[in-house]
Amino acid sequence: MIDAELKFIVDHNVGKMAKWLRMAGFDALLFTGAEDDAIVATALNEKRILLTRDRRIMKRRVIVAGHIKSVLIESDHFTAQVRQVISTLKLDKSCLRPFTICLECNRRLQGSTKETVKDRVPPYVFLTQEQFSECPACHRLYWQGTHWQFMSRKMDAFWNCA
Ligand SMILES: [Zn+2]
Repeated sequence: MIDAELKFIVDHNVGKMAKWLRMAGFDALLFTGAEDDAIVATALNEKRILLTRDRRIMKRRVIVAGHIKSVLIESDHFTAQVRQVISTLKLDKSCLRPFTICLECNRRLQGSTKETVKDRVPPYVFLTQEQFSECPACHRLYWQGTHWQFMSRKMDAFWNCA
């Protein structure tokens, strides 16, 4: 299995990581329910790696038996949490597909032609960018602007200092 095929379910107690994983190109469901049974069932049915700070969930039989891959997150700090996931799962930076998933909906982005986004992005962006991607669910547009570059550098930092 290559890294880009990994799928996650992120417990709300480490919810910030869902966005980061999406940014890196992983399918990452954010679990906001209260029932442990539901997060465990989804992880099992959809073969998702479970990320949580909840020790109680880790004692579930399906997890102890290894039917669900999971990472018990140790730190309260986001940077340390991401580093733990990278090192535990041995995520290779070269296998990431940054900015291919909608950060809001967790849907895979589709390429858009410049013409179709013409009236939907600021004129400066239209003039300076050639490639756009669109979320099929919320129709949010993504392009490689300054925000994107800033995020890319932030993402790189997680590996460079690991
Ligand atoms: Zn979306």
